[in-house]
Amino acid sequence: MGRLDKKIAIVTGGASGIGEKMVDLFSAEGATVIAADINEKALEEASRKENVVGMKLNVASEEDWAGLAKEVYERFGKIDVLVNNAGISSEKPYTDIDLDDWQKMLSINGFGPFAGIKHVASYMAKEKKGSIVNISSYTAQIGQGFNHYSASKGAVRALSKAAATTFGKSGVRVNALFPGIIETPMTKGLSTSRDLLGQLIQATPLQRLGQPEDIANAALFLASDDSSYITGAELVIDGGFSAQ
Ligand code: NAD
Repeated sequence: MGRLDKKIAIVTGGASGIGEKMVDLFSAEGATVIAADINEKALEEASRKENVVGMKLNVASEEDWAGLAKEVYERFGKIDVLVNNAGISSEKPYTDIDLDDWQKMLSINGFGPFAGIKHVASYMAKEKKGSIVNISSYTAQIGQGFNHYSASKGAVRALSKAAATTFGKSGVRVNALFPGIIETPMTKGLSTSRDLLGQLIQATPLQRLGQPEDIANAALFLASDDSSYITGAELVIDGGFSAQ
């Protein structure tokens, strides 16, 4: 028996990197998974997988969220799990960031999870049960020069706690993961510089970069009933990098 048997799970950003790995793991553990992403071409591929349904979603659009949550609920009769994973990153220097950059970053990385919780938690509440996992970042805790990206992930951190207290009485749990540097298309730019890669690995107590499955395994635990008394929790998954 799988750890997510018969569960209906939505994973945003499910067409790439960490999200794609979660989609594969959750479906292998018995869930029907809705891979929700803005990248329609990548979704076509995701939709060919067993027990995976690709749906287009721009997480920054409240209209998209309302439509997706309703469609999933009407089609499957419930929503058990939501992983707010979709996101964009930027290493733009602080003094070059303008209001447009800020609003784009905060709309996708901040409003996205906020709106997802807003629209999905009410369906979860009907069943008096649900698990929401938000993907923040170690940069919410130590910055590391990521500027408005760090700020957006700080918003996710605070939002996770706030939502855990707001929806706890409805049986909906909300937890947050804080990945370190994980090898995905998002960090491909970093990976091309051997020097930087070597420095990062050296500075990490566990002496390696993270892999998408490192995050997917933790998300599986938080999504499953194995964590049924855990809400408002924070789990850093960075090989010990930010512990120093
Ligand atoms: P990725 O670029 O491989 O995947 C991100 C996915 O999100 C893509 O499929 C993309 O199409 C989708 N997406 C982007 N904007 C969207 C929108 N507006 N609506 C819907 N989907 C959208 O990135 P990843 O490395 O797998 O990152 C996944 C999450 O983990 C992100 O939130 C990221 O900030 C976070 N994270 C990543 C790392 C890392 O080192 N890779 C570290 C810490 C946190």
